[in-house]
Amino acid sequence: MASIMYASKCPCCERAAFVDDYYKTDEKYIYCMVCGYYYIKTIEEYTENSIKYKEEVCNGHGMFVLENKDGNCQKVRLNNILTVAQLEELKTSLMERSVNQEKSYLISFENGVFTILFGNPPENSHLSFDEYRRKMIAKYGEPEYDFMVPVEG
Ligand SMILES: [Zn+2]
Repeated sequence: MASIMYASKCPCCERAAFVDDYYKTDEKYIYCMVCGYYYIKTIEEYTENSIKYKEEVCNGHGMFVLENKDGNCQKVRLNNILTVAQLEELKTSLMERSVNQEKSYLISFENGVFTILFGNPPENSHLSFDEYRRKMIAKYGEPEYDFMVPVEG
């Protein structure tokens, strides 16, 4: 089904989140790959005269990205504050020989503050949404519609 993808300001961390907008059905998916926030709006059921939607929203607590040397990549959003034991476990898995440490990272997001616990998050994740938007426009030109800021991983 047709959807448009663009970037918009994450309501949780105010950096660039990705929107997948199914404009024909008004279904929408928003994912923030920086803090782990997501918002999902899907059709629950069609009733006689209307459509009933279901909404799900979850604030992020950070991201764990583990990329293996073979290119296999695992991205996990953190639902909760990490316990000391969980943190140790994630750090141990990042130290394995099959892991590409240069491309893997672990960031937590608590009370509006990002903490890099391991590795180097991608350049774009350090930008506020406005900075990201300016960078994308400099790179790809003005979008056709104002809100359609290009998506870049
Ligand atoms: Zn976010």
